[in-house]
Amino acid sequence: MQGEPEGVLMNLLSDKTALITGGSRGIGRAIVLAMAAEGADIAFTYLHRKDSADEVAHEVENMGRRCMAIQADASDYHTTEQVVNSVLETFGQIDILVNNAGITRDSLLMRMDESQWDTVITANLKAAFNFCKLVSTHMMRRRSGSIINISSVVGLFGNAGQCNYAASKGALISLTKSLSKEIGPRGVRVNSIAPGFIMTEMTQALPDEVRAQWVQDIALRRAGEPEDVANVAVFLASDKAAYITGEVINVSGNIKS
Ligand code: NAD
Repeated sequence: MQGEPEGVLMNLLSDKTALITGGSRGIGRAIVLAMAAEGADIAFTYLHRKDSADEVAHEVENMGRRCMAIQADASDYHTTEQVVNSVLETFGQIDILVNNAGITRDSLLMRMDESQWDTVITANLKAAFNFCKLVSTHMMRRRSGSIINISSVVGLFGNAGQCNYAASKGALISLTKSLSKEIGPRGVRVNSIAPGFIMTEMTQALPDEVRAQWVQDIALRRAGEPEDVANVAVFLASDKAAYITGEVINVSGNIKS
């Protein structure tokens, strides 16, 4: 049979450097590994678990790529400035930015306290502002780059008990669309991925009956894997997506809205 031998690296991202937030586990980890497998050097941030971050960095280096794992809170502007500067000092360039870090603090709005609102909006939305601002300046100078914001189908359809999360994810889509118009003329693309129900620690925290209900609402009748999201991130980061910007791609198995 003709075609690529099984397991061959396509190198869709060779000579590129990717910066991914929240890369030590879940969807972020899958994106780190998928981008490294396609030839990218990697810098990723993580919040707490140094052991997991070191394991991921080791896997990337075993693929023959360079890797920086940086402990940093993405929601703090000054910290993100230090992260971006140190990545640029080490690698000299950032071609791909993935704003993946995100949290939930679920509650009905009437019971939601101010800190649940502020924490989620800051971690999910302000963190993306920080990195978009700092990295897009660099990308515009180079007249090239791809930014990917990990949103959620909840940002499109809403979800009871997640007003804070849905607002942050909906705003990420508006940020994506607006920024794509600002920096498209300088050759920088900005897109969003809206995952549905993906098997990670974030969704494992849900009660069994809630998870079962989510799966019933999915046309493909299964939860997604982090790699399902990572494959789309690789495509959007690559030159194969050179004419795509300002878009939201759902990776949800067609979840009911
Ligand atoms: P996860 O909880 O497994 O991972 C989230 C990652 O973000 C962790 O590595 C965490 O350390 C990091 N993080 C959180 N706050 C941070 C901060 N302030 N600074 C730096 N890092 C921080 O979750 P996941 O399921 O892998 O989610 C990844 C992204 O995908 C999130 O933005 C999430 O909202 C989004 N998403 C997930 C699903 C799903 O079903 N799992 C669905 C839609 C969207």
